Amino acid sequence: MTAPPPSLWLDGLDSPITPTRPLARDIDVDVAIVGAGFTGLWTAYYLKRARPDARITIVDKEFAGFGASGRNGGWASALLPTSIATLAKEHGRDSALAFDAAMRASVDELIAAADDVSADAHITKGGTVVVARTELQWERAQAEVSEADEFGLGDRVHLLDRDAAATRLNATGTLGGTYTPDCAVIQPARLVRALAAAVQDMGVDLYEGTPATAIGPHRVATPGGEITAAHVIRATEGYTAQLPGYKRAVAPVYSLMIATAPLSDPQWQEIGLAQRETFSDYRHLIVYGQRTADGRMIFGGRGAPYHFGSATRPEFDTHTKVFAKLQASIVEMFPTLAGTPITHRWGGALGIARDWHASVGLDADTGIGWAGGYVGDGVTTTNLAGRTLRDLILGEDTALTHLPWVGHRSRRWEVEPLRWLGANAGLVGLSVADAEERLTRRPSVIARALSPLVGGHL
Ligand SMILES: Cc1cc2nc3c(=O)[nH]c(=O)nc-3n(C[C@H](O)[C@H](O)[C@H](O)COP(=O)(O)OP(=O)(O)OC[C@H]3O[C@@H](n4cnc5c(N)ncnc54)[C@H](O)[C@@H]3O)c2cc1C
Repeated sequence: MTAPPPSLWLDGLDSPITPTRPLARDIDVDVAIVGAGFTGLWTAYYLKRARPDARITIVDKEFAGFGASGRNGGWASALLPTSIATLAKEHGRDSALAFDAAMRASVDELIAAADDVSADAHITKGGTVVVARTELQWERAQAEVSEADEFGLGDRVHLLDRDAAATRLNATGTLGGTYTPDCAVIQPARLVRALAAAVQDMGVDLYEGTPATAIGPHRVATPGGEITAAHVIRATEGYTAQLPGYKRAVAPVYSLMIATAPLSDPQWQEIGLAQRETFSDYRHLIVYGQRTADGRMIFGGRGAPYHFGSATRPEFDTHTKVFAKLQASIVEMFPTLAGTPITHRWGGALGIARDWHASVGLDADTGIGWAGGYVGDGVTTTNLAGRTLRDLILGEDTALTHLPWVGHRSRRWEVEPLRWLGANAGLVGLSVADAEERLTRRPSVIARALSPLVGGHL
């Protein structure tokens, strides 16, 4: 087993992880799931609830929660990597709105399901505050609210003036911001491990330390035995490129995080986040944070390099320069954090499809299903994916199976070295775009040029 990454979340489990036995024989089941992150586990959970007699096996090359599901920023949000305007352009306004409504409902469904599996995952639904700290960021905040209004989603994003924004999050230079109620904070490792325990109690067989070496029609190959199944679900997200035949399907991009020691009450009074809101700002390079149940600030961001050939390795989970930048960034935003120790530094791979469009689907001929391409918005989306895969596997025609991400096929990533060049130009470009805006006080030309490359996510 690869050593678990030193995340705050794994450190906060009640007991150390003892992996189950690996698969050591050939088996035949109804559903074989590859990957025991949220995607694979929610799928097993909802399927087993609908069909208690279904024979379901999950294999994970490491352990349940090893991937992004056990080490993310803990935002259970209603966000999608594709904006509502882009979804409406591609799939029509009604479809886009249905998808948005399903995501909002999924936040509450996730909270209820976490309760059902008795996950003590420190969940609080406090919403999200995003602050604008330059005039250009303030324009972006206003544009976001106008776009929501155009889609009749005025209750979704509220514009905050300077005082209202600073009351929620007192970051330096705050000019205003936005607030959405549709987000809960979670302790992700506690949720994913509780879910893994619950599905096993429900009768799902979990084999940890069991890599799938190939996925094919109705079969999964592993070193210890072959699985034949009516349905095979690929739930490998950032690690998908390691599977034969999937090299260019999903690009792994690293996001890195830091956690402070618990802050004092006066520090929190100065910073805010009284409702444990998740937070960000309107810079181009994504950053995200939350106030943990034990009073720490955790803060993450992208900016670590993409690795040639879509490689994922444990040493990519850390990057000294990115950690230093994250620390400098929180001290710049919250001067009271100067001198506060950083106790944990970690990272992980998230998965990006070439068009930045998450998808879920099931191929009737091969029996192979999948879900992924969530970018940094997978915590809630995996729950929707699990329920959608349940319906697809059961052959049921439901509101979920008509959502516009079902059966969506993203084009493949470029062959190397173009993928490496493009992905890294995008990542470096976004931080340069923020610097450019600070200097010129005009919307970044670099950001506009990069927009097609990063799916318009600027
Ligand atoms: C640092 C970081 C912060 C993030 N923050 C947020 C956030 O705050 N909010 C949010 O919504 N999203 C966030 N995300 C994204 C979110 O965590 C993911 O989208 C989501 O957890 C994906 O779940 P998954 O089950 O599809 O994949 P994963 O959790 O990555 O699970 C995949 C599993 O597959 C296993 N596996 C891989 N290959 C094989 C194989 N060949 N055979 C068997 N098993 C295999 C792995 O061991 C792993 O356990 C973040 C991601 C990262 C990395």
